[in-house]
Order: sequence, then structure tokens, then C-alpha cells
Amino acid sequence: MIEARQILNKIYGYENFRAPQDEIIDCVLKGDNALVIMPTGGGKSLCYQIPSLIRDGIGIIISPLIALMQDQVDALLQMGIKAATINSSMSGDEVNSIFEKITNQELDMLYVAPERVLMGGFLNALEKLPIALFAIDEAHCISQWGHDFRPSYQGLEILATRFANVPRIALTATADEPTRKDIIQKLGLESGKHFITGFDRPNIFYEIVPKDNSKAQITQFLQARHKGDSGIIYCLSRKNVEDMASWLCEIGYNALPYHAGLSPKIRERNQAQFLREENIIMCATIAFGMGIDKPDVRFVIHANIPKNIEAYYQETGRAGRDGEKADALLLYGVSDIAMLRNFIDDTNSPENQKRIEHAKLNAFIGLCESAKCRRQILLEYFGQNAKPCGYCDNCQNPPITYDATIAAQKAISNVYRTGQRFGAGYLIDVLTGKDTDRIIDFGHDKISTFGIGEELKKTEWQSIYRQLIALNYLMVSSENGGISITKDGLDFLKSKSTIMLKAAPSRKEKRAAKSKSAPILNDESQNLFEQLKAKRRELAIEANMPPYIIFHDKTLHEMANAKPQTLDELSEISGVGAQKLERYGAQFLEVLRANI
Ligand code: ADP
Ligand code: ZN
Repeated sequence: MIEARQILNKIYGYENFRAPQDEIIDCVLKGDNALVIMPTGGGKSLCYQIPSLIRDGIGIIISPLIALMQDQVDALLQMGIKAATINSSMSGDEVNSIFEKITNQELDMLYVAPERVLMGGFLNALEKLPIALFAIDEAHCISQWGHDFRPSYQGLEILATRFANVPRIALTATADEPTRKDIIQKLGLESGKHFITGFDRPNIFYEIVPKDNSKAQITQFLQARHKGDSGIIYCLSRKNVEDMASWLCEIGYNALPYHAGLSPKIRERNQAQFLREENIIMCATIAFGMGIDKPDVRFVIHANIPKNIEAYYQETGRAGRDGEKADALLLYGVSDIAMLRNFIDDTNSPENQKRIEHAKLNAFIGLCESAKCRRQILLEYFGQNAKPCGYCDNCQNPPITYDATIAAQKAISNVYRTGQRFGAGYLIDVLTGKDTDRIIDFGHDKISTFGIGEELKKTEWQSIYRQLIALNYLMVSSENGGISITKDGLDFLKSKSTIMLKAAPSRKEKRAAKSKSAPILNDESQNLFEQLKAKRRELAIEANMPPYIIFHDKTLHEMANAKPQTLDELSEISGVGAQKLERYGAQFLEVLRANI
């Protein structure tokens, strides 16, 4: 462990291990197997990289995506570590030259896809060599219960028998109980140690607001908090993605589209640009993101609601991997709910599966409408107890509740009187007494609920309908978005019980919530930070690498605050290892010295 600590200080430039990195490394160094479940950004990579460096032989890291592997290898090379990858995009000659290095025992680490591991010859070649360990990254891919099942991962079962004496370490950020059991059983980890840390991502600010005008809401958010930052905007359809991207470009942002309808070449190019540059907004369907390891994604916006809490947590989890503050903003509207219900019903899944998916969507709507701490709901959903976090919209701006009994009764009887087949927009027009042609055609200007809701504004009625849907008093048809009354809704009407609802947030409150996750630097340091970033960009372009491979934002923030003036002082900054100090120290010092 002394050696492990020296490597951490000298090569990685970090002061201390985070719990439980040291325990995991100790376990693997002793030759034991390990299962590691740690949230994104928790620091899983060190847990197999450091033992690979210390133990005799090469560390084999199995990972699902080429882009991910290349990134990790680039980062390791920057630190002076001998790492390589073999993947399907390489020529036969390239592969052979890496193989030569492997057999000459010149490499510390090799990143490969599971398909490659199982290819004839690969394991035969390894059997003749000392192997430090097998790391199975994104291990949830081995399980059909997991959300990204990859059949080729199942072939990795062979490692436990053919390489019984080589430690196996399986890592993932998301695995519920059945998935965990699968990983343990398939990779033979019963005898090993299991490290399961919490799921919390404390640096992410969660905010969920009703959608009224998404473009205006998004511009306000970007301008107030994320000028020039990298971020992802998730949209429901390809068309939404294209619209969003071209609109953002029109108003002066650097936005790119990503969805399954684009050619693989364009997708790859856009993804590469997003990884390499610092101010790109990726507008994407959920096709984008698996394995995106970009540490400096500063925000994730959902312009439409995701299909369940798991998906939401995974997608928002792509923000702030570097531990710096990041925002997750969700805009939700009733029409999205109808669309998602439609998607679920349109699949060929068995009825039982559909029921589960509808229930999961309901849980998600519950999260949107709840007045409780967002993080608490999310963590409890994953089986972890939590206290109110103080760092989400509901904690910082507790929603005000009021007795909405009469309003709810009006809203529900209005659904009944109009025949349980209209959407919220129409229902609200009836309540507020609008004599539109449509209302007159249907004769709804003659019913008892016409105009009985004039005391409330349209946005207030929208909020009431949304909450009644979230409470399952009303439901949205997946076929046509029409709203109908559930059994709970009828019970509520009959029992004449009271109901408390959240008041629709006023504009002023919305803005107040926006200013809360302010940047941590003062003006002067901010200015220096920008200069350091510019220097980093220049070096990154020169080296043809993403900027974060040189230094993370976090490291530049520390520099801007501490303002080191000598190489020695600079080496104290977290993230500045020996190799990077030698390679880049002087150039960053120049910027720092010019600013004193
Ligand atoms: P994960 O794979 O769990 O998502 P990473 O291994 O990519 O996380 O680590 C996330 C970030 O935290 C990286 O920037 C990494 O260099 C940094 N990190 C990891 N361990 C430490 C540590 N002990 N001290 C400081 N930073 C660390
Ligand atoms: Zn909270």
C-alpha cells in the first residue's frame, strides 16, 4: 500500500485516496476478487489502474466502448503510463504491433472489448504471460436485468476457470440487487470482497420545472448559468433534436445534433467534437451518452421527460463527473406523458412488461410533482436512506402548498362533464370560459363547469391538472392524450376529502432558484481561470487531444485560487502529477505569474 500511495501522489498528483479506493486496491493487491459499485465520478479507474502498475504482469481492462478506451489510454499516456488498446477500428499491422508489445511484456495496461477477449487466440496468448488482473468495467452489461445488456459480456464467465489465479475486479455505477447477483455469479466473485458505496452525486443540482415555453426557459438557464459550457440537451425525438440544435446555433450557441437517424460517420464526428471542445451543446436522443466519459459536462437538460427514474439518473449522471458543480434541469409537460405512454403501448413487449413500465413512468411523474427533496426521492428509489440535501430546487425553494379541494373538484368534474376525452389545454379553456369555436361545436359552453374556474390563471390550472395526474386521480390516455378519471379520482370526489397541492411557482421564485448554484470563483480568479483554460485549449489543439486530458477543470480552479508561482507549489495542486508537471508546468506557470 505504501507503493500505491506513492503512485497516487507522484503519478496522478492526488493527495489521498478516497474511501474505499484504498481498501479496494489493497484487496486486489492481495490477489482477491472484488465487486465495486461506486457512483460515476467516484474514482473507479484508480482501483484497477494502480494494482495493474504494482502487480506483476499486464492489467487487462475490458470495456464496452472504443471511444471510452481510447480516452482512458490517452489520459494514461499523458501520465507516462504504458497503456494501449486493441480495437476493431485498428489495422492488422497496428494490432500486431500491440501484440508484440504485450508478448515482450512492455505494457502496464491493455484496454479491450469483450468480443476481442473471446476471439480465438487472444486468451491463448495471455495464458503464457503474467497477468496483473482482469478489470471488467461497466460490469452491469453482463446481466439481462441490467439496462445495457451485452451478450458478449456473458462469455467472460470463462475467465474464472481459465485464469483462476488472476484477480477479477468488476466495476459499475448502476446495478440493482438482481443485477448485482448476476455479476457476482457470472464472474465468480462469491469469494471476493464487495464494495458498494452510495449512489449520491452531491455536486449535481437537481431542478424540475413545469414546461411553459421550453425555448425561453432554456435560453434563460444557459444565459444565467452556463455561458460557454459543455452540456447535453436530451430531446424525445429526432425531429426535436434537429430543431433544438439548429435553433441554438441560430441564437449563437455551438450546438450539434446526435440521434440514430444520422449516419454513423456524422454521429462519430459530432461525438468527437463534443469530447474535444469545451463549449459544445449536444442535442441528443437517448441514443447518445452510454460510455461518455467527458468529465466537464456542466449541465444536462431534459427538454422532455425521460421514461423512468433509472434513465433520468443515468442521463443526469453524465454531468459533473469531475466533481465540480453541475446542473440537471428537467422541463416537464403533460403532453410528454401521453407520448411516453404511447411508446410503451406500441412496443411488442408482453402485457406484464408494459404494466411495469407504466408504473415506472408513474414513479417518475411522482418525482416531478413532489414537494420533497429531489435527491432524497432519487436515493430512496435506489434503496438508500437520505436526508434533505439542501442542494436541489425543492430544498432551496420549498414549494408552498395550499388547500386546493374546491379547485380539484372543479377540475375533475370538468373532465367528467366533457366526456373524459380531452387534453388539458381544452379542459382549461372550458373552465376559464373561453368561447372558442371548438367549445361551441361540442356544446361545452352549456355545461355546468363552463367558466367556473375564472378565478385562476391558465398556468395555475395546468399545475393542478399535472398534480392530479401525478396523484393518479386523473390519467392521460396513451392513444390521444385525452384525460380521464381514475378510481382514486372518483373516490376523492365521493369522499369530499380535502387536498393540498403545490402552488404554481411565480416567475420571481423561479429566478431565485436559478441563482443558487453560482460559480465558486470570485471575479479575479474567474478571469485567471479563463486564461488557464485558454492555455489548456492551445496545448490541447497542439497535441490533438481533448483539453481535460491535460488538466481537469477542477485542477484549473485550484490553480486559479491558489495561484502557485513555482513548479514546487504547482506540484501541490491536486491533479498535477510528475509527468504533467514536467510537460506542462512551465507553460501554466507563465500564465499564473503574469497575473500576480
Ligand atoms: P468513475 O470511473 O468512477 O466515474 P473516475 O475514475 O473517472 O470515476 O474518476 C473521477 C475523477 O476523480 C477523475 O478525474 C479522477 O482522476 C478523480 N479522482 C479519482 N480518485 C481521486 C483521488 N483519490 N483524489 C482526487 N481525485 C481523484
Ligand atoms: Zn434536496
